Amino acid sequence: MLFDIDGTLVRPGSEIQRRHMGAMAAAVAEVTGSAEEFVYRDNGLSYGGVDLSGFTDAGTIAVALRLQGWPDTDINAALPQVVALMAKELDAGGTVPADEDLLPGTVELVRGTVEGSTRIGLSTGNARAVANWKMRCTGLADALRDGGFGDGARRRAEVVVAAVAALADGRPYRGVVVGDTVSDVSAAHAAGLRCLAVSTGGTSAAELTAAGADAVLPRLDDKAARAVLGELLAGARTARPPAPGPPPGGTGAGSDGDRITIPGGR
Ligand SMILES: [Mg+2]
Repeated sequence: MLFDIDGTLVRPGSEIQRRHMGAMAAAVAEVTGSAEEFVYRDNGLSYGGVDLSGFTDAGTIAVALRLQGWPDTDINAALPQVVALMAKELDAGGTVPADEDLLPGTVELVRGTVEGSTRIGLSTGNARAVANWKMRCTGLADALRDGGFGDGARRRAEVVVAAVAALADGRPYRGVVVGDTVSDVSAAHAAGLRCLAVSTGGTSAAELTAAGADAVLPRLDDKAARAVLGELLAGARTARPPAPGPPPGGTGAGSDGDRITIPGGR
């Protein structure tokens, strides 16, 4: 099973999400000279008027730099530095007790799955260092270490492919993606996996259903959650091999961020 973090395991607008976005804004400001503030509204997150639902860290940083008129070649060159500065900023503040930031039912689900035979990991837009910091804060670091991350990948589909590669260890990988955005659904399906969507993030159950989610739950401690998940796991598909092309995690052109209209931008 592959877990998204923000909006799926962790409460939208939680303290650890705010620290993450604060560290990102500080890193962007250090590299470019300025940054805007992240805006939290209705369980969603935006930056400069851009809805960041489903965005990876790489995609979000790209948006921040594009808003300042940076061309893609310069963005790609600066990305590793911004990610490294963000991680350094987070680490400098130490971990914060954040078990209260976990959404209801998540610990039981993760722990219950660890005891089962399913290989579990993360499929998150967070950079690896950020994701690992959040898992240390929430006490789930021992269970959720590896997976797919958003250090360089701007597309969720790349993140899922990387997560499968990390967990498969050369064997076929059967599993389910658990996420809270339309991007999680489409990325899971692109990899040949099913998606259990939860409407605990900023996306409504209706939108997740319309996106083709294989099941939609209002929360993970819902009475039906275990049964639904059991059914999905019983019918889990094997991830299909990735299509030929750029390797996952690449910073090539094309991303969720490329489809945005930047208000007042070019
Ligand atoms: Mg999410």
